[in-house]
Amino acid sequence: MKIALVLAPSWGIESPHLGIALLSAALRKRGHTVEVFDFNLRVHKQNKEKGWWKGEEDLHWEDANTVGGFIRDNEELLKTFAQEIYLSRAQVVSFSVYNTTWMLSLELANRIKDVDKNKFIVFGGQRCFPELAAEGLIKHAAVDAVVLGEGEEVLPELLGKIEKLKRIEFCPGIFYKEKGEVINCGRRPAIANIDALTYPDFSDFSLAEYGNPHQLPILASRGCPYPCIFCSTKLFWVNFRCLSGARIFKEMDFQLHRHPGVSFFTFNDHVINADMQALSDFCDLVLAAKQNQNQDNPWKGLNWRGAVVIREEMDAPFLAKMKAAGCIELEYGLESASLAVRKLMRKPPYDIQVLERVITDTHNSGINARVNFMFGFPGETEEDFQETLNFLKKNRAAFAQVHASETFCHVDPGTYLFEHLSEAKISEKKFHPLYWESQDGKNKYPERLRRHQEFCQLAVALNIPLSSGGHKIMLHKEHFLKKYEENL
Ligand code: SF4
Repeated sequence: MKIALVLAPSWGIESPHLGIALLSAALRKRGHTVEVFDFNLRVHKQNKEKGWWKGEEDLHWEDANTVGGFIRDNEELLKTFAQEIYLSRAQVVSFSVYNTTWMLSLELANRIKDVDKNKFIVFGGQRCFPELAAEGLIKHAAVDAVVLGEGEEVLPELLGKIEKLKRIEFCPGIFYKEKGEVINCGRRPAIANIDALTYPDFSDFSLAEYGNPHQLPILASRGCPYPCIFCSTKLFWVNFRCLSGARIFKEMDFQLHRHPGVSFFTFNDHVINADMQALSDFCDLVLAAKQNQNQDNPWKGLNWRGAVVIREEMDAPFLAKMKAAGCIELEYGLESASLAVRKLMRKPPYDIQVLERVITDTHNSGINARVNFMFGFPGETEEDFQETLNFLKKNRAAFAQVHASETFCHVDPGTYLFEHLSEAKISEKKFHPLYWESQDGKNKYPERLRRHQEFCQLAVALNIPLSSGGHKIMLHKEHFLKKYEENL
């Protein structure tokens, strides 16, 4: 059966979409025909001057009025897209849906249904969880099914059913509609043996058209074993699974030979060092591959980056090995330099010297350390916040970049923090995931924004590069405060 995999604006334009490449491989393995439509890239080419693809501007894609104006300005293009999908003869059209893509995905889904109401429209991706979000999406008339969580097993199975029955029926891992009623088929277990998954298939993408034609994404692990109480990773990925070091190496080797010219990989994992053995084995294999002096050896100039947790084992010799194996950048989720706050977050380690040592060793090994921070975690006092600022000042030379969370401290539905508001002394009255306030009224959105601003201003004063999220809040502060006031 033929399926169209669609990416609507807005999404990154640096490299092809990994989720689509993973789905393409899984679907083809089960005998289905795939056609990929990266409309995000094509819309970007015609609207580059808008600058809306920069991280600090992505809020435009979540604003109904702005997206409405965008639709009016791009009427012909959207008509063409709907027509292309119709002409592709794909019976199923699947959209990868995120906060920044869902509005235009829905617009295209409506147009496709207008052209051919018999097409099956499936939504999947990070916007489709937890169940509450899936339920919101399935209620739209144009959406026939919503996939929850990983799609590599669900989507081929769903296609098999549609092919056989010419309709959607009960399939674990989806929401669908039957006689107008929404049916929740429940989650399915996380894919246990990820080593057995087929390598992502990027053959539908023209790499030369992306912002960085030498770069590909890779996913070496799913989920995270750490217990941070604010984190929603477990909701989507359920449990932690990691490819073996040998399997990571083989996948990269496959892509390097299939796509000559690729010399950089971005690990899309939440953390690449949760399984230190796998990471260490991978580095050993890369180091051995780099020894081959053959001119055509694609490993020779290979570099990569990924996100990591701070842990004792990230010592100077290990970081030196990572550097020699091609690692040029690591992203640390530090969040707060106050040990009291880290304990509230349940985010080890609880030793300030380890935090400083790992970030400094990273810098000294020649790897860029990008470090993430949050503001106003429930229980964070002004003194705690000052400890974070002092940490920034003291270790300024070690930071290649800091990322200041643009939601400051979002309480994601489904997380431990969300389920235990009173334990965290968050007021349950008029609770809002972004605009929540503490029971004593001291920790409110404007106060969190104030801390964020102070942090960003300090980073700028210290000449520490600030990521787009920080600039976004500084640029659009009034907009964010207005939104907060509208919500009161
Ligand atoms: S280490 Fe990062 S990904 Fe893992 S639970 Fe904590 S915040 Fe989430």
